[in-house]
Amino acid sequence: MEKRPFVTKEQIEKITKTYPTPFHIYDEAGIRKNCEAVKEAFAWNKGFREFFAVKATPNPYIMKILSDYDFGFDCSSEAELILSGAVKADGEHIMFSSNDTPAAEYKLAYDMGAIINLDDITHIEFLDGIIGDKYPEIMSCRFNPGGVVTMSNGIMDNPGDAKYGMTEEQLFEAYRMLKERGVKKFGIHAFIISNTLTNDYYPMLAGKLFELVVRIEKEVGIKFAFVNLSGGVGVAYRPDQTPNDIKIIGEGVRKKYEEILVPAGMGDIAIYTEMGRFMLAPYGELITKAIHEKHTYKEYVGVDACAANLMRPAMYGAYHHITVLGKEDAPCDHKYDITGSLCENNDKFAIDRMLPVIEKGDYLAIHDAGAHGFSMGYNYNGRLRSAELLLQTDGSVKLIRRAETLNDYFATFDVTDYKNDLIK
Ligand SMILES: *Cc1c(COP(=O)(O)O)cnc(C)c1O
Repeated sequence: MEKRPFVTKEQIEKITKTYPTPFHIYDEAGIRKNCEAVKEAFAWNKGFREFFAVKATPNPYIMKILSDYDFGFDCSSEAELILSGAVKADGEHIMFSSNDTPAAEYKLAYDMGAIINLDDITHIEFLDGIIGDKYPEIMSCRFNPGGVVTMSNGIMDNPGDAKYGMTEEQLFEAYRMLKERGVKKFGIHAFIISNTLTNDYYPMLAGKLFELVVRIEKEVGIKFAFVNLSGGVGVAYRPDQTPNDIKIIGEGVRKKYEEILVPAGMGDIAIYTEMGRFMLAPYGELITKAIHEKHTYKEYVGVDACAANLMRPAMYGAYHHITVLGKEDAPCDHKYDITGSLCENNDKFAIDRMLPVIEKGDYLAIHDAGAHGFSMGYNYNGRLRSAELLLQTDGSVKLIRRAETLNDYFATFDVTDYKNDLIK
């Protein structure tokens, strides 16, 4: 599918008068349309709720948009819990799917009334030491099926190598232990393949988890309130890929639900999801300006953003589509490496990418940066995190996080002798 940015060169020229590049910009209209599609796809399930994975785009303005659809938030840290509290999410709307969790974070999640999703059986005794015998009414456990999971289209992942979740045997035992501690309602959670580009992933996972909860209810004598399919629904980063169709995904899950849960008398179980990427990635773009061109053994275009603003290409070799604004329809007859300024040769947004001719001053839109983009930012080489802007439905632009300044970068030297030299 052709990839068009949601902003034009004219819009960006106007925006940069107030907010210089680089910046992340999010498309409110696109986010809202997608939220509606997700709600619609699972409307057949009475208790359905999406818990947005906060780590993907931890910005309260973005979270507030999602909460308009009664979505909740999937958190795994203190900061993410506090962000969820800031947008007035109550306990029912917070899923705490953490791992290797510090005691203080369990305590905070518990005090907020969040649904605690245990990563491991040993965390039950760990929790005993934090909350005593006052267990919440509802709790969840994270399952890891182990081995290698392969889907029909060749997508695979290796849960057996993943640090998350419990084995099946531990899972049964964990539910027994929680039952003994007075927990009344239960959930199950699993995240086994990341960024799946197939409509079959959720239905496949749902089938596995539904069969499992039927067995657990029988053997352990407990009642499940929800099945949490977690994240993993991917997006088409490349133009030659076919995007997932959430309607088909929802129908696929419904089919498994009617095949497995309904006949078992468990047709009241709620479906939960924890999508991050699917909710936000396509609705965020990193806008950057070409500031250098370099002709050596290859053709380079240097831009004013770097991997500190979007780490996925450097970290995973991930493809992010790039559009040269104003040259949407120009022929892609130049081969470039698009680089940032870090003293790291993996600081390249694209390698050997065919693009229209790029001149200094051109604006580039780096697509699908709305999830796991800004949030993975870091400060190597003293590079600063950019601003985040929201392109609102009425076409106006709102600053939803300012760019970092050197004062932010140096702030933690405020206890040193260099304080006055560094912080202005
Ligand atoms: C990262 C994460 C998600 C979101 O994953 P996406 O691939 O962005 O959908 C959901 N749940 C948990 C527990 C996660 O760690």
